[in-house]
Amino acid sequence: MGRLQKILIPLLGLVLALWFYSARDTFTPEMLRGKRVIVTGASTGIGEQIAYHLARMGSHILITARTEARLQKVVQRCLELGAASARFVSGTMEDMAFAQHVVREAQTSLGGLDMLILNHVGASYFGFFDGDVEHVRKLLEINFLSYVAMATSALPMLKESEGSIVVVSSMAGKVGFPFTVPYSATKFALDGFFSSLRQEFSIQGINVSITLCILGFIDTERAVRAAAEVLRERPAPRDECALEILKGAALRRRELYYRYSSTRLPLLLRDCAAELLDYLVRSRYRLPAP
Ligand code: NAP
Repeated sequence: MGRLQKILIPLLGLVLALWFYSARDTFTPEMLRGKRVIVTGASTGIGEQIAYHLARMGSHILITARTEARLQKVVQRCLELGAASARFVSGTMEDMAFAQHVVREAQTSLGGLDMLILNHVGASYFGFFDGDVEHVRKLLEINFLSYVAMATSALPMLKESEGSIVVVSSMAGKVGFPFTVPYSATKFALDGFFSSLRQEFSIQGINVSITLCILGFIDTERAVRAAAEVLRERPAPRDECALEILKGAALRRRELYYRYSSTRLPLLLRDCAAELLDYLVRSRYRLPAP
């Protein structure tokens, strides 16, 4: 009984502290009204939905991706939904000069920046690692280095506005996932870079928040096409996911988990039962018999 009390009381304290911490701030759409925001990878999927939510909240939006025709449509829809302004720049994030150009465009056309949402993701394969090192290098450039390049270029503007960097990552960037080895590597790299940068901001008194978004399976076209057949779980809706990302960003959370039950809760096992977590991850897949 004594031992039980020793465990239960601190646990209760922890739960209360977590509840108090998470109930501290409440999100209101006004928080993003008039804010100047860049969203990358906004021609489709989660990025497109983030752009629409920002539009409804009355933000100034600058979106980017490669497909100009899609970006034009998204900008048009953003204006219909009530964006304070909406524009796009098209190009590929394989090119670091383009990544920096997008940030300069925010300086020129918006006169500054309040939020940088890094969300784009390069195409990769779903299957066992095929040994193609060149593909890993290319994916690191798109999914990681361009994020670093954009955040670095945007930092002076974000310092001035005391703004936010939002990094869209994945469960596959917190725990090893089979069949997405190159992709997982790029997402782990994001955690390493941006979590370390957050520490340095804290030491230097730089008031720019960094929100790392840890997402589970979301119902975007690309993800469903790649994984719906083999994953046992149902994908979560992308519009809700996009809104949760914006809430986490506006509240300057350090990490955001969506859905909580399929991301944060299993990750609690990482330090105390890593092999059990690995097993749970593998059991999400319909695997052929060995
Ligand atoms: P998506 O639908 O495939 O959209 C990817 C976006 O990135 C598109 O706008 C695409 O547009 C752009 N893009 C691709 N290659 C590019 C390049 N070389 N240069 C510039 N832009 C490029 O992806 P999503 O499912 O919405 O995922 C969004 C984010 O959520 C990603 O960071 C992903 O890792 C993360 N996430 C997604 C899931 C999921 O289940 N969906 C799960 C965990 C994490 P263009 O083709 O027009 O360039």
